[in-house]
Amino acid sequence: MIRPSAHLAEVRYEIRGALTRRSRELEAAGLPIIKLNIGNPGRYGFETPPHLRDAIAAHLRDSEAYGHEQGLEEARETIAAQQRARGARGVEVERIFVGNGVSELIDLSLRALLQPGDEVLLPSPDYPLWSAATILNDGQPRYYRCLAENGHLPDPDEIEALVTARTRAIVLINPNNPTGAVYPRELLERIVRIAERHHLLLLTDEIYDEILYDGAQFVPLATVAGDVPCVSFGGLSKVHRACGYRVGWMSLSGDPVRTHDYRDALQLLAALRLCANVTAQWAVRPALESKPTIGALTSPGGRLHEARRMILEGVANSEFLDLATPGGALYAFPRVRADRVPRFDDNAFALRLLEEESVLVVPGSSFNVPDSRHLRLTLLPPPEQLREVFVRIERVLARMAEG
Ligand code: PLP
Repeated sequence: MIRPSAHLAEVRYEIRGALTRRSRELEAAGLPIIKLNIGNPGRYGFETPPHLRDAIAAHLRDSEAYGHEQGLEEARETIAAQQRARGARGVEVERIFVGNGVSELIDLSLRALLQPGDEVLLPSPDYPLWSAATILNDGQPRYYRCLAENGHLPDPDEIEALVTARTRAIVLINPNNPTGAVYPRELLERIVRIAERHHLLLLTDEIYDEILYDGAQFVPLATVAGDVPCVSFGGLSKVHRACGYRVGWMSLSGDPVRTHDYRDALQLLAALRLCANVTAQWAVRPALESKPTIGALTSPGGRLHEARRMILEGVANSEFLDLATPGGALYAFPRVRADRVPRFDDNAFALRLLEEESVLVVPGSSFNVPDSRHLRLTLLPPPEQLREVFVRIERVLARMAEG
């Protein structure tokens, strides 16, 4: 018997978990499943902008050797320039790290930081890799709530009340997966002050930074943080619809003296895995230096805008659901009303929706929300299909409401 690491007993990633495996079985048996589970634009007919593809093709011969452990110089220069142009302080190429997706860098950023038992303040709901990476690096997640009643925004007083002598970092996800919340500047300023008062590192996952609807304004945390140490994460997967390229980055801003040793630790960890995929990094400069292409999808008439409109309409017409309107990202996080379906269990619901109606969603509790009444839907299927999804969701909820 080969025993896996005991660490894994506490780690979950339901976005690709048991429900997804069951969905694959049903598909293999010939059932068409409508999938609203993974934020993977390429699977739904969204294309990576062709100039990114061309840049990679043109540089294939330049991609055969290992590269710098922190990433290609030209990619890092472009990322640093973007961060500085936004107003981040102290960003230099030596403080940029390119990785195989933000996923790799989430792990790296926490591995470079945590001692056993250190605490990390995480949003609930979170993108579950943040919890998993905290646990796998011997840290303790401590959750601050982002409730639907408050537009899924956190309460800074609650964040501060959770700080202990063991707290090392505050994690923000903005625009948020799974809720779509976009954090206003005043809220970010209050969170920065908490980090400053308690000498905490800010870790801000901004992978959806340009996916915004109906005038929502994204404020990069680094521009508010000033000298407070801050790591900002971005990448090609979502805004540039290139999940499969596996390119993400993190940039360290704030006082270089306070972050000197941490930066060196990040470099050591980056060097241990040699380098990120070199080939795909050639897409970074063209991605960041060309006119953004995502606006055509998120503005009125664009496919993501339409999908979001269908979801808002589906919820407005629903007997059972309510929703804090998402301002950004690729998701909606509707909630099943307690007065309509008193004995609701999100996991049981998601399984029934899959088995009875061939629709795959992710239960809210997969995002570290205790006793969740939520489900997460992606905005990626064709908008007209989303209308059908709501018909099916309503049917299952009606059956659950009857008991
Ligand atoms: N962070 C958030 C909030 C995400 O939603 C995702 C993917 O869905 C990631 C990070 C991982 O991104 P990447 O493809 O760059 O690894």
